[in-house]
Amino acid sequence: MADLLIRGGTILDGSGGEPFVADIVVEGDRIADVGNFPHVQADRTIDAEDLFVVPGFVDPHTHAHDEAEGGILKIPDADNFLRQGVTTVVAGNCGGSPLPVGEHLEQVESLDIRTNYAVLVGHGSVRKAVLGMEDRHATPEELERMRALVHKAMEEGALGMSTGFMYVPGAYAPLEEVVALAEEVARRGGVFTSHIRDEGTGLLESIEEVVRVCREAGVPSQISHLKAWGRDGWGKAEEALKLLDDARGKGLPITADQYPYTASYTGLQSLFPEWALAEDKLEERLKDPEQGKAVREGIARKIDLAGGPDAILLAICEAHPEYEGRTLAQAAEDMDKDPVGAVEELVPSGPVSAIYFSMREEDVEAIARHPAVMVGSDGHLRRFGIGVSHPRNYGTFPRAWRWFVREKGLWTPQEAIRKMSGMAAEKFGLEGRGLLKRGYFADIVVFDPERFRDTATFRDGHGYPEGIRYVIVNGKIAVEEGRTAGRGYGRVLRLKHG
Ligand SMILES: [Zn+2]
Repeated sequence: MADLLIRGGTILDGSGGEPFVADIVVEGDRIADVGNFPHVQADRTIDAEDLFVVPGFVDPHTHAHDEAEGGILKIPDADNFLRQGVTTVVAGNCGGSPLPVGEHLEQVESLDIRTNYAVLVGHGSVRKAVLGMEDRHATPEELERMRALVHKAMEEGALGMSTGFMYVPGAYAPLEEVVALAEEVARRGGVFTSHIRDEGTGLLESIEEVVRVCREAGVPSQISHLKAWGRDGWGKAEEALKLLDDARGKGLPITADQYPYTASYTGLQSLFPEWALAEDKLEERLKDPEQGKAVREGIARKIDLAGGPDAILLAICEAHPEYEGRTLAQAAEDMDKDPVGAVEELVPSGPVSAIYFSMREEDVEAIARHPAVMVGSDGHLRRFGIGVSHPRNYGTFPRAWRWFVREKGLWTPQEAIRKMSGMAAEKFGLEGRGLLKRGYFADIVVFDPERFRDTATFRDGHGYPEGIRYVIVNGKIAVEEGRTAGRGYGRVLRLKHG
């Protein structure tokens, strides 16, 4: 007697191979078999006729650990991911991660988590632990300490290292430092991910930097949330992809992830020039006539690149919740300031984040079409209905399906599922996950291909997708017809060292 039988569904196994109709037998936490088993009996049988049966989605790019916005320790049910069909989230991206990784993973393990959970160690966090917010090169001794921290994190189960060249203090590091630390990651079989330095004006040069790390450190690399951002980025997607092709043509293991939206989301402080944020001396610099002027010019330029103050929507604004959901132009008007003045006042007041409507559909679609690009949300955990949410937190996977499979036909269904599961599991070393295969963990999604779609919008970012029938995590039914189970079946996943 099997534990679970999924009968007669159309299987897209995560490898990109042709769909086929079959049954899946689950015993314990594993897939016992895939095939035709008319005589098998199970404790629970799901009739999947006319439905797609696919591997649980693997989200390689999340910020699910992030406490400032309510990370996994506060929101262990990870509903906004699970309800999309995501069964594994990788946190610690863009250079920021919890430290030490081992302690964090043990804490997470003590909770009733709903999805599987893994982390990368953040280069920015490691650098901050050793050099603080100083804008300078590390001494050889400091570099050794950083290397030891990365080594320890890898020993404790990190899947690899993330970098945030666009953020401080990651932006202060010379590339040699990152290469040295990435070598440590490569030695342990990990992956290197990068939020590149500049996704607009310097897009191509920034991709070259990741190619260099990939080549010099010999580390499998991933460009995070690849996009062509802002006025200077528009139209550059094809050139960016050509760089990716050139590198791959030389045998370099470099790939990318992408979320299917034309707006990004990050801290409002990213409108400041990086140098202005060094050593937490921002207020001092703003008061200095010469430096203050340079900071303000930098902010004005970035607002313009983003598409102007109407293209920036304030999301989280802890000290001034009255501005949440207002554009920067509107907030500035309320404050009786110009947009630069509003940014200058809001950023030091506490955590402020914003949604930037700064991408073009043509670029998003060009990137989606590339075979080395997988789906990743760049999302955060949210409690349903609370605060402003970028819709990607709830809608990345169903939206990618709706947009790129059903509306534009850019992907075949099997390609789509590979980009949502098998590809990320392979790249991030998640053994036994990402495919529907005998012996693999039973992380499975059953959905209606005609109805699967996102409902979260920029106006209301809290909305569960439609069309998901079942989500199975480690062999147990975690979501059934829109209802989540009373407990969690997720596990902490650590990199297995060969
Ligand atoms: Zn990022």
